Amino acid sequence: MKHVLTIGEILVEIMALDPGNGFLEPISLVGPFASGAPAIFIDQVARLGQPCAIIGCVGNDDFGELCLRRLEADGVDISAIARDPARPTGSAFVRYRPDGQRDFVFNIRHSAAGSIAIDTASQAAIRACDHLHVMGTSLSSENLVETTIGAIETVRARGGTISFDPNIRGELLELPGLRQALKSVAMQADLFMPSGEELFLFSRADTERDAVAEVLDWGARAVVVKRGMDGASYFDREQAISIPAVPVGEVDPTGAGDCFGATFVTCWLRGIPPERALSLANAAGALAVRKKGPMEGVSTMGELETFLEVGQIEK
Ligand code: ATP
Ligand code: MG
Repeated sequence: MKHVLTIGEILVEIMALDPGNGFLEPISLVGPFASGAPAIFIDQVARLGQPCAIIGCVGNDDFGELCLRRLEADGVDISAIARDPARPTGSAFVRYRPDGQRDFVFNIRHSAAGSIAIDTASQAAIRACDHLHVMGTSLSSENLVETTIGAIETVRARGGTISFDPNIRGELLELPGLRQALKSVAMQADLFMPSGEELFLFSRADTERDAVAEVLDWGARAVVVKRGMDGASYFDREQAISIPAVPVGEVDPTGAGDCFGATFVTCWLRGIPPERALSLANAAGALAVRKKGPMEGVSTMGELETFLEVGQIEK
């Protein structure tokens, strides 16, 4: 079985119980929940039974311990997660506004997540992997860009494959050099997996068709576009497949894209045909939004298959 690796932030998320505007008065909260886009991604890969690891860093505190225990319990190899005794584990407080937008208070850059570096354990993880998944959120500092680009080169030189989810917040894009760094990662990806408009991040194309053609010209084998409640699409040189979302009651959209991406990448590595891979990934995204908490909606392959077959599942 192919080994999957990702690099990036491992955080806890603490959520406001009731919708409202920000954190300007005392409110009821629930959490901590294990979180961080790369962490959610790799946890979902593990739940599908694929061998996998994450290069990351947590603090020497309960938040870090909670994340390590959760990832390990779900089957992630945690040997390349360092502990920085000098910094706290990253965190995000989140509150939904009545219109569905979110307010955040982040502690990421100056948390242990900002100390990710290549040590002996992470070098071993890079050597052991067959596939590297890169998240745009994890390219938020020069140090992380350098680490990630180095890992991409090593994996590709050994015949491994790369997937890339730009997953980028607008304000990060304005950091000096970041857009160029993201583009150079995108150009090395075998699978490019943007959400909606992110397809146009590195392209001058006006239409989706032209933007997809441009990415395929760079050498990507496929482009997978996530469209939230409108489902998802798959494109390669021979075919274009679009499928609608599986209708569910949305409780918490955080993590849908990561669970979708993890499922698509795992299916692709297993040689599952694209149409089926897209359906399973779509099901994983739908099941993810039904649960409160970023990593609480991950699924096993059996659960995804049952959900697609009978249209319902108790979890
Ligand atoms: P995030 O970065 O917040 O995790 P994303 O923007 O990367 O999410 P989305 O497009 O929101 O990704 O969601 C990924 C996939 O999950 C969608 O393509 C769809 O298949 C599924 N999905 C998302 N939201 C819903 C929903 N409300 N109902 C059903 N399926 C959904
Ligand atoms: Mg996303």
